[in-house]
Amino acid sequence: MCEAVVQITDVHRIYDTGAVQVHALRGVSFDIHSGEMVAIMGPSGSGKSTLMHTLGCLDRPTHGRYLLAGEDIADRSDDELARLRNRYLGFVFQEFNLLPSMTALDNVILPLTYRPMAQARRRERAEQALEQVGLADRMHHRPNQLSGGQKQRVAVARSLATDPSLLLADEPTGNLDSEAQEDLMRFLTGLNADGMTVVIVTHEEDVAGHCGRIIRLLDGEMVADEPAGEVANR
Ligand code: ADP
Ligand code: MG
Repeated sequence: MCEAVVQITDVHRIYDTGAVQVHALRGVSFDIHSGEMVAIMGPSGSGKSTLMHTLGCLDRPTHGRYLLAGEDIADRSDDELARLRNRYLGFVFQEFNLLPSMTALDNVILPLTYRPMAQARRRERAEQALEQVGLADRMHHRPNQLSGGQKQRVAVARSLATDPSLLLADEPTGNLDSEAQEDLMRFLTGLNADGMTVVIVTHEEDVAGHCGRIIRLLDGEMVADEPAGEVANR
């Protein structure tokens, strides 16, 4: 119980653009334990996406250590990082990132094609994930036949299909109206109540208010790490 899914220690990320070096993360350290729901907040340019890319093994720290589910990601090849991502992580993006030519079902099957599973089993698992997000009756629709909220639910189903240990969502409500935003947050909160570990980058205090904990970044540094309740009561 309460094992650390994420252990970040003194992580720096310096982008070397040739002319200038951008120090996007400056010694960030924190752990995230199994079953937490954490918001990452901060103004534009504060390093949120860089931190998310690091957590998502899409990028490596310039200095410092990152353990994902106890596994040190340093010195892993790109292929090994891809395997870690597929094994442990689910991703949800602001822009949904669904393939427009594919049905909801085929979009959700996609991450399972890297798994050693029979095709019929992949389909069954994808159908379960779509049922879980309340879209059993929309499986054969394409993204352009779905509302924003439904598209984001397909994206969540796609992220859940592989049974991730950690769900990473970068501004997941950024393209949703307020009703769809509330729906999505209620769903993610329920998922978390059932044990899923969730990290959400957001600009919106409303969204962060659904989380148990808020990490705040400013100019690449972590300036606060606090229970969300304290913010609400302030
Ligand atoms: P946020 O998501 O909070 O807006 P980012 O992590 O995208 O912040 O960016 C943090 C800093 O790093 C910014 O100064 C940004 O311009 C810079 N940065 C981000 N990505 C790159 C990159 N690929 N190359 C150079 N600088 C970058
Ligand atoms: Mg960003």
